[in-house]
Amino acid sequence: MPTLDAPATVVAERIRVYSPCLTRGDFRHALFDFDGTLSLIRAGWQDVMLAQCVEELQRTPTAETPAQLTAVCRQFITRLTGKQTVYQMLQLASEVEQRGGQPRPALTYKREYLERLHGRIGYRIDALRAGKDPASRYLVAGSLDLLAGLTERGVVCYLASGTDEEYVHDEARLLGVADYFAGGIFGARDDYLSFSKKQLMERIVAENNLAGPELVAFGDGYVEIENAKQVGGVAVGVASCEDGTALWDDWKGQRLLDVGADIVVPDWREAGSLLAYLFAETP
Ligand SMILES: [Mg+2]
Repeated sequence: MPTLDAPATVVAERIRVYSPCLTRGDFRHALFDFDGTLSLIRAGWQDVMLAQCVEELQRTPTAETPAQLTAVCRQFITRLTGKQTVYQMLQLASEVEQRGGQPRPALTYKREYLERLHGRIGYRIDALRAGKDPASRYLVAGSLDLLAGLTERGVVCYLASGTDEEYVHDEARLLGVADYFAGGIFGARDDYLSFSKKQLMERIVAENNLAGPELVAFGDGYVEIENAKQVGGVAVGVASCEDGTALWDDWKGQRLLDVGADIVVPDWREAGSLLAYLFAETP
């Protein structure tokens, strides 16, 4: 398994390439994750979910310490990042049950999570809507350059998020990125089995008769990276440090690499170089 510090190639300053034999230059379709990949509106969601999950497990008759429960919860939250939120809540219910507790329905946990999260990040949405904060404050650096560069090269972009679809539409508009997604904007639905990033990627591949390397996925979560590799696409992981305290989130980066990311970057600041590399415009 490669380690984050040992890429096969480094393009520009911070574009780490781990797959030396990447098929480049053929991309026609690009799938984007939203939170942590383009949007920072929900930055901090992991802490909100972690606190809620640990509290729920502490109510069970478990002998595990808060530190042990924190490790358990962090592990499943991370593993399911990128899937619809309800899957993390289904896992929470299962963990409660395994510890002899009485789980509540996953959708009840999800509603509580969204309320807690809104308490934490609602002010950002209000400030964007009121025009008090510029969209750039809540965009991963370089996002607009990357989206514009792909669009200029004729690539059809799709936005696919595990966050509820109505919020994704609203927040993409507030950030000024909605119009880039000619392929559509997709998110979680109440009928959660009717959508997944995997289903969407499989549909893109089937409808357009793709062999694989015409599809590129950009994301900061396990799921979109893993799914992109499953359909033969190229996966660009963004180890974005959502709280802005460092350049890279190394922990996130290593996990993206573990599930098969071909390229890992800290953000999209070097979008020009990344695009030139992906489209084989440079050696
Ligand atoms: Mg994400």
